[in-house]
Amino acid sequence: MADAYKLDCESEAVDCRFIIQSENELEAVELAKNHMQEDHGQDYSDDELREEHLQVV
Ligand SMILES: [Zn+2]
Repeated sequence: MADAYKLDCESEAVDCRFIIQSENELEAVELAKNHMQEDHGQDYSDDELREEHLQVV
């Protein structure tokens, strides 16, 4: 089974229940980035998202 990349926003922002899960790392990073910008007004680089926010499940 392939690894999936997951961002559980609830662990970042307590009141946000947004969850991303994708087997495509690029897609997961892209979705996470858009969500962080649009819903939280925060800019993260791809590397920050990969290293600090995405979990491999
Ligand atoms: Zn969120």
